[in-house]
Amino acid sequence: MKRDDIYKNSIPAGELIFVNRNLRLSSIKMVGFDMDYTLAIYKYPDFEILAMNKTIERLVEKGYPYELFEGNFESSYVMRGLVIDKLSGNVLKLDKYNFVHRAMHGRRMLTYEERYSNYRNKKLDLFSDDFMWLDTLFSIPELAIIINAVENIRNQKRFQHFRYADVITDVRKSIDEVHQDNTLKRIILADIPKYIEYDPFLPQTLHRLKSNGKKLFLLTNSHWDYTNALMSYLLNNRMKEYRDWTGYFDIIIVGARKPEFFNSDNIFYTVNISNLQTRPLETTIASFVKGVIYQGGNIKDFERLSAIRGENILYVGDHIYGDILSSKKRTLWRTCMIIPELEKEIKVSTENIRDIKSLTRMEMQSIILDRTLNSVKFSMKNGKRSSLKRELEKLKKKHARLVQMIGIRRDEISAKYNIIWGSLLREENELSKFGAQVEDYACVYTSRVSNFFNISPDQYLVSPPKLLPHELEIEELIR
Ligand code: IMP
Ligand code: MG
Repeated sequence: MKRDDIYKNSIPAGELIFVNRNLRLSSIKMVGFDMDYTLAIYKYPDFEILAMNKTIERLVEKGYPYELFEGNFESSYVMRGLVIDKLSGNVLKLDKYNFVHRAMHGRRMLTYEERYSNYRNKKLDLFSDDFMWLDTLFSIPELAIIINAVENIRNQKRFQHFRYADVITDVRKSIDEVHQDNTLKRIILADIPKYIEYDPFLPQTLHRLKSNGKKLFLLTNSHWDYTNALMSYLLNNRMKEYRDWTGYFDIIIVGARKPEFFNSDNIFYTVNISNLQTRPLETTIASFVKGVIYQGGNIKDFERLSAIRGENILYVGDHIYGDILSSKKRTLWRTCMIIPELEKEIKVSTENIRDIKSLTRMEMQSIILDRTLNSVKFSMKNGKRSSLKRELEKLKKKHARLVQMIGIRRDEISAKYNIIWGSLLREENELSKFGAQVEDYACVYTSRVSNFFNISPDQYLVSPPKLLPHELEIEELIR
């Protein structure tokens, strides 16, 4: 529930805006939005199943046997933020330091020994062509297809001549095609409510930002006709202040080709919406014109034509690479990442808060016990052997029991997020690779755009104090 009276009521955790780097909204003059998975959230799993089926159809048209891809879409096997090792067909979950914590081949989890021999004895070049990062929600159907194909190759002799890397490359190509040739878009446009979530608070959220003096812009990779249909569904006939959805935005840029938008000299075009023809924007133009639809472009020209720069712009997007990382690396734009999965992650964390806290306590106890154990061992080396032997045995048993309990408790909690992959943002006591990217590149993050409705458009968003390990330990000791 969104609350009008934001001062009296506390905001549910799932609707909060979380802060990595302090952000003074009062100094933001312009707020930009990506469309797909930012303003327009695709319905899960209807969209994923559609994308999966259409991609498989395309692969079959290219000569692949249908049975190679046979298998259901199963939520527990898929998550974003994972990496595919194309040569072996393994799917990996990494932590912040690129350590492989979990790996799956088809539907079989790799053992510790297999993970160790495949991924710990050598330095991984994760940014080479041998690895594929699944960093957007659009990657989920792709992952589901690859898992089923690897499973079928692994289990069925007749498919064993297929090389994982070739199949994975062809799946990538085919999904790319069904996005680009409008196969998916045609079906979505025929039944938008089936595939796109309707957020009743979106219009008021944009209106509140606007009526508090912020300019708004849309910067999407989708093209005009698709953008127009989705945005009309989300915003038309919702507020009397706006004739149609375009009225909410001061600047509208479609077909932006992010991440190129942030690091190229691509020119801007204008789109003639009656015949969809595009025309290069004249170089003499000094500023954007409200109501005109632009296409392509680049950040330098954008800042010149909008006359607003860097730190005064907040960009809201869902794609860690295309929206967040690229803008952060090349510009001073502030960033807000939309992470729809956060709603479930927060729900699970809230429901299991007692267990999570008790796990943290057990982990601290284990550190202290381990320290005692080692100092007893050290004392024994220095001559006090017999009197300490029994003490050491007792401590060892206690520590082993505790470590075992920690393992069980950790697995139980992790399975509640996702039975195979655990939490999107965490891995054991570390951040997952995805979580680390969110921390590094997103100034703030939240589950959906309309969560901005819960806060003042001029709020100072402040990050919580970050504790270093020594500070954490002191806190625990005091407790
Ligand atoms: P956004 O509004 O900038 O998030 O743009 C998303 C657009 O990219 C949508 O039109 C998608 O259909 C499209 N898209 C997503 N994944 C792929 C892909 O793998 N290949 C080509 N287009 C894609
Ligand atoms: Mg997007």
